[in-house]
Amino acid sequence: MKNCSFVLITYFIYQQMNKIQFIFILSLSLLVSCKVSLVKSQTPSYNLNYELAMSEPYTHYFEVKLHLKNINQIAELKGKSSVLVKMPVWTPGSYLVREFSKNVIDFEVSNNLNSKKIDKNTWEIALNGANELTLTYKVYAYEMSVRTSFLDDSHGYVNGASVFMFFPDLSKSPSLLEINPYSDWGTISTALKPITENVFLVDNYDTLVDSPIEIGNHEVLEFSSMGIPHKVAMYSMKPLDYDKAKIIQDFERMTRAATSVIGENPLDHYLFINHHLPNIGGGLEHLYSSTCQTSPETYQSQKSYIGFFGTLAHEYFHLWNVKRIRPEALGPFDYDRENYTNMLWVAEGFTSYYEEIILKRAGMIDEADVLNAWASGINSIENQPGNKIQAVTESSWDAWIKYYRPNENSVNTTVSYYSKGGVLAGLLNLEILHNTNGNKSLDDVMRLLWNKYYKELKRGYSDEEFQKACEEVAGESLDSFFTNYIWDTKAPDYSKYFNYAGINLINENTNSNTAFLGLVASGTTVNRVLANGSAYNSGINVGDVIISADDKPISGLGDLSSGKNVGDELKITVLRSGVQKDLKMKLNADTRLRYKLEKMDKLTKEQEKIYNFLMNK
Ligand SMILES: [Zn+2]
Repeated sequence: MKNCSFVLITYFIYQQMNKIQFIFILSLSLLVSCKVSLVKSQTPSYNLNYELAMSEPYTHYFEVKLHLKNINQIAELKGKSSVLVKMPVWTPGSYLVREFSKNVIDFEVSNNLNSKKIDKNTWEIALNGANELTLTYKVYAYEMSVRTSFLDDSHGYVNGASVFMFFPDLSKSPSLLEINPYSDWGTISTALKPITENVFLVDNYDTLVDSPIEIGNHEVLEFSSMGIPHKVAMYSMKPLDYDKAKIIQDFERMTRAATSVIGENPLDHYLFINHHLPNIGGGLEHLYSSTCQTSPETYQSQKSYIGFFGTLAHEYFHLWNVKRIRPEALGPFDYDRENYTNMLWVAEGFTSYYEEIILKRAGMIDEADVLNAWASGINSIENQPGNKIQAVTESSWDAWIKYYRPNENSVNTTVSYYSKGGVLAGLLNLEILHNTNGNKSLDDVMRLLWNKYYKELKRGYSDEEFQKACEEVAGESLDSFFTNYIWDTKAPDYSKYFNYAGINLINENTNSNTAFLGLVASGTTVNRVLANGSAYNSGINVGDVIISADDKPISGLGDLSSGKNVGDELKITVLRSGVQKDLKMKLNADTRLRYKLEKMDKLTKEQEKIYNFLMNK
């Protein structure tokens, strides 16, 4: 039928034009069809193919197919009577077992092959001599975070580990991924290499996990930085109001400044996926891309704009630190269980430290912004009781059960490897700069790790190798630094280190006559009780509702300490599980540190050199 109508239409066109025109048009169409078949013939053929569909996005289910063919010829499967297929339990970059198989339904295998689930995330398929199989399943995706996947009638976001299963025997094998977007959607953004508009080349399973996909009708910005094509997928339900030329210029500056740290950019393409929705945030790094989330209002204030660029710079810097320069435990990944390392304080903390360095080098923030960020990093950890309990290496190791699973007492028992790692990166930088008379810095440590472990040895570094790299650059033993501050919880002499750069550390909280309750509350309901503070010692519990002080009803917590002196005793009445209870509280002094950092009036030559290096002057 189709062919018949083609002949009739061709004849009709022939009637309407002269012979030469007709021959020209005919040759042109032949050329086009040749080109199409040439593209088709270039599509590689693999034994493993993935298909992703989303025919009813409002149900939040992705439909996934895995085709496996030529089974009898696959070396890894030869002689096997069954094959295993798995769903990861976690996603790299976010150190929590998330049990992605909990969202899988309708798991089916073609050709009447039997399958059974043998543990929480593994299925065993009996091959029975079959030479090919297709397995299908659906994944519920309705968690809008950078670490999970999401599908609704406005867009789809795929974080590979939470959607795609894998055959452990074939995790190193290449495959193709065909994406069939919902019929109303026209844009697919992913760092995977496209073969056609909707078919992508997957080098191996790690690549699939490490290449998030944004599908919908989002705007895509494009720019070239250092000759490398970069794209930015901008998803938002609400129309975004931003200056396109400015944002592209800032992306260009930021990516260049980030590259200046290592001095070399390994990319041939990069994709930023930016989600804009209320009440979301954070970012996740990938090999050739990153996903960042922010409010649609981000571009309306300079403060939130810069804050978001800090996150973008952080995720971009990860393309070196953690995606390529990495602790030995972080790749190749074991998707079945926790992957333990002591070094997240380097992977995340150093990356956090470089946020300000990069934005300063990009000319997006000034010296005061840098000093404020450093001071607030110190304040946040020094005023957290858990800083004295948990070393930053322990914080890294236990990220799986502590950092990612905080409870009401975490403030008393843990410290963030982001914040403390960032502060320690700054101190190490100052120590190296000081000991080398301003000639070497933390950048040189990153370069050493890049050249030696990523490029030369093609592996991650061990705990000892990391310290050695720092010592090699610093030209001195850093044993006491590592023993006291990294593996233990001793407080560093901040003033000594900042003095190297001609920066004064000033504690602005000198008024020890102010009383401090030592709790955090929403209204009058207690959320956190800080160890050894007034509330802690009086027996106040998280969840208590404070109703009166000295028998006078209170409207807010300010009423508790106003007009009171350090050492005063109060009768506090709380409502606990619906029962009224009286407690005695002795008010302690507010001894929280409120540091600020200030450039000294007069700097020595050495201090000037270090200060100028830090501030990119
Ligand atoms: Zn990070």
